[in-house]
Amino acid sequence: MEIGILTIFPGIFDSPLGESIIKRARQKGLVDFTIINIRDFAKDIHKTCDDAPYGGGPGMVMKIEPIYNAMEYLEKEKGRRPKYILLTPQGRILNDEMAARLARQSFICLICGRYEGIDERILHFVDEEVSIGDYVLSGGEFPALVLIDAILRHIPGVLGNSESIKEESLNENLLEYPQYTRPQVFMGMEVPAPLLSGNHEEIRKWRRKEAIRKTILKRPDLMGQFKPTEEDLILIREIMEEILE
Ligand code: SAM
Repeated sequence: MEIGILTIFPGIFDSPLGESIIKRARQKGLVDFTIINIRDFAKDIHKTCDDAPYGGGPGMVMKIEPIYNAMEYLEKEKGRRPKYILLTPQGRILNDEMAARLARQSFICLICGRYEGIDERILHFVDEEVSIGDYVLSGGEFPALVLIDAILRHIPGVLGNSESIKEESLNENLLEYPQYTRPQVFMGMEVPAPLLSGNHEEIRKWRRKEAIRKTILKRPDLMGQFKPTEEDLILIREIMEEILE
């Protein structure tokens, strides 16, 4: 996958894209980044990327021409047009389904706003607007990194163990089951017995039940979308009886 990033703060990406899972994905050739400093495409001597808003009001607005010039440059360099994604608190809120869908694209370009945002005419050139949640950050760089991480986890070969994403929270609209590692007892708190049993079926069933229990207790909103099997229905009944006891 190719990912272009348009930003006036390219340095923000150095460490997050140069460590751990993303670093390995780059080394394996699974993802390639082209980070473009929008400022390089401002034509005046001061490299101006922002200006006062028409109609007055506080703050500055990012100018459209340098961004448009950067988009043209990227397309010329790569010989094709990416799917342009604008990071904005006004976009559709990111979820795992969206990340999985975007992971199937071969070339995307993330546009990071700053100040009061970008001149509205940018919407004419973008394919999708994405928000990472109902709060406002100072720039689109961190949202872009969140989106990149969420997307890359869906690209085969990026995660060490190809199974790990299958059991992750939100798969099947369930939270993940509780996880434990050594020591077996910590400050009197013991690892649940089924996990020590060595019995794969018992472990599977316990994990399924605890995943359902967690979801009921922590994210009951997800249960509406969860499609239980017959076994799940029995587990749900057991959990409800245990809760009501
Ligand atoms: N004035 C804008 C508004 O009310 O919609 C917000 C501008 S914000 C201070 C600056 C930039 O940060 C935005 O252009 C966007 O790129 C990014 N940003 C802020 N919050 C975001 C969020 N929740 N999701 C995605 N991007 C966000």
